[in-house]
Amino acid sequence: MIFPMGLLGRFKRRCIRIRQKARCCGIILSYHRIADVNNDPFQLAVAPRRFREHMEVLRRLTKPVVLNSFASRRRSLGNRWRCAVTFDDGYQDVAEYALPILNAYDIPATIFVSSGCVQTGSEFWWDRLQRCLLTPGRLHWSQLEALDRKLFSSFHDSLIQAERYSQEDFLRYGSWTWKCPIQPTSRHVLFCRMYQHLQSQSAAVRDRLIDILFQICPDAPHTVDAHAMSVDELQALSGNPLIEIGSHTLNHVMLSFLDEQEQLLEVQEGKRTVERLIQRPVASFSYPHGAYTPATLNIARSAGVEIACTTRQTFVSRNNTRLELPRVSPEAWSGEQLEQWLRQVL
Ligand SMILES: [Zn+2]
Repeated sequence: MIFPMGLLGRFKRRCIRIRQKARCCGIILSYHRIADVNNDPFQLAVAPRRFREHMEVLRRLTKPVVLNSFASRRRSLGNRWRCAVTFDDGYQDVAEYALPILNAYDIPATIFVSSGCVQTGSEFWWDRLQRCLLTPGRLHWSQLEALDRKLFSSFHDSLIQAERYSQEDFLRYGSWTWKCPIQPTSRHVLFCRMYQHLQSQSAAVRDRLIDILFQICPDAPHTVDAHAMSVDELQALSGNPLIEIGSHTLNHVMLSFLDEQEQLLEVQEGKRTVERLIQRPVASFSYPHGAYTPATLNIARSAGVEIACTTRQTFVSRNNTRLELPRVSPEAWSGEQLEQWLRQVL
């Protein structure tokens, strides 16, 4: 049969959608922060008002379920698609702003916490990097001589070029995100290079590098805007019947860069620490930065992880194994956009 071109395109798209729908088992949404913020280079924050819109849409169009529901390959509940809500990292604002909204709509959620940060309620490393490099001020690169120049050897030229970051540039590029194809100033170039470099480092080297950056950036603000929840907040969340606590490694490292022994330590100790803090078993896990290797899957299994989420941006299909469940990040969407997307895929 010969189709006119336009008709053929429509027919193909319809076939793809029918095939997609046949494989679809529901969706898992992935969030990080629920907060009103001015600068968000990693696009991690959803405003509480917008998060409320998202939950209203989910309650109306889907069947909100606990994450463990995706351990089975059942397709839908009644005539509604399953939807699970997850949060990565363990930000304090999830306890403060997301929980009341989840309670109001009776929507369960899993919070994957990086236990090393929660133990101390500290700032996450990427937020430290932003506070240090993406706020106006001078970078005293020449002081590296007296600190640890070797650690920064591959950044020598970038550091010199990024010496100044003005208040005007800070205001002008407030909406810049690290996924933008262009870095508008030398400071943004350094920020992106440093972020990529730090992802591949051990927690000790990474934290040492950022400590030194703070020493050569004396103008960086001392006030911390975003940080991990406290142990008290974690324990209170864990006592809420709608909330499941999962693990997200000990130090939020990129597992794919570590050898198997180091991966095991991060996965196992991260999980054990959360279990100790909340006094109950932890079965779910999410891969920091969505990075893992085939060895990671075996390590997660041997550490007792029963269900794990990636950052692959799609719906859950019958082909997914329970240790590689994809998620969708609706951070930048309005409630209306989320509704349109759900009506398209489900
Ligand atoms: Zn994370």
